[in-house]
Amino acid sequence: MTREDLAGKIAVVTGAARGIGAAIAQRLAAAGATVVVNYRGSEEAALAVVAAIEAAGGKAEALQADVSDAAATEALFKDVLARHGGLDLLVNNAGVAKDGLLVTMRDRDWQRVLDVNLTGLQRCTRLALHHMMQKRSGVIVNLSSIQALRGGRGQANYAAAKAGVVALSRAAALEVADRGVRVNAVLPGFIETDMTAMIQRRAGDEVLARIPAGRFGTPDDVAGLVLFLCSDDAAYITGQALTVDGGMSAQ
Ligand code: NAD
Repeated sequence: MTREDLAGKIAVVTGAARGIGAAIAQRLAAAGATVVVNYRGSEEAALAVVAAIEAAGGKAEALQADVSDAAATEALFKDVLARHGGLDLLVNNAGVAKDGLLVTMRDRDWQRVLDVNLTGLQRCTRLALHHMMQKRSGVIVNLSSIQALRGGRGQANYAAAKAGVVALSRAAALEVADRGVRVNAVLPGFIETDMTAMIQRRAGDEVLARIPAGRFGTPDDVAGLVLFLCSDDAAYITGQALTVDGGMSAQ
């Protein structure tokens, strides 16, 4: 018997108009959750995700907010609570990469990656916790990356932000475990999305050779783990950093 039944739960997935976030939104909705598909700029894509969820019999709505903008993020969470009367699941998925060697990295590329991937995630987590701690239940899943463990040439900003996500998730989990709230980090390997498309074109064979499973990951590979962590099957799992990478980080 599975406890992956999310009927009656309200979920927010940030940056869910495409890629891993869209797959997560679809899996959570298929399990019964009502999903807020957050997006920054691509309204059309977000509405297409909502339409796909509804066509499959699920419930979703699209809400715009740039998670690096404090006021917009506060308004998003206020809106979710006003429209749905609660929040049970938060998946901090929104992320950006601005790769470049550290020695020549521009301050703005460092700052943007930290602002979205770490500071924005931290603010969403805090806003969700205000509500979840009061009602003594909730689950937060934060998208990190195996680059948090391995570094990555040209990704000092991204690796630093994603390592911060793991550290934040562990610290937050300790602070809220006795309030019935769980916080975990997920560390994907190389997943085929728009974010990795250029690397795949330039060095796909080289990357593939380093993946023991012999294939790139799919957004749904990540979404399956996120769904599990959101479910009661993971009721005793908190403060963890779980990789989903076809064995890449085991080498
Ligand atoms: P993607 O670029 O396809 O999607 C990222 C989404 O986040 C986009 O919809 C984008 O619009 C949104 N976003 C970016 N900045 C935002 C902001 N300020 N506010 C709201 N939304 C914003 O990337 P993806 O591959 O689907 O990545 C999803 C998450 O998984 C990211 O956090 C990424 O760092 C992480 N990740 C991806 C991989 C991979 O191989 N693709 C590996 C490890 C971790």
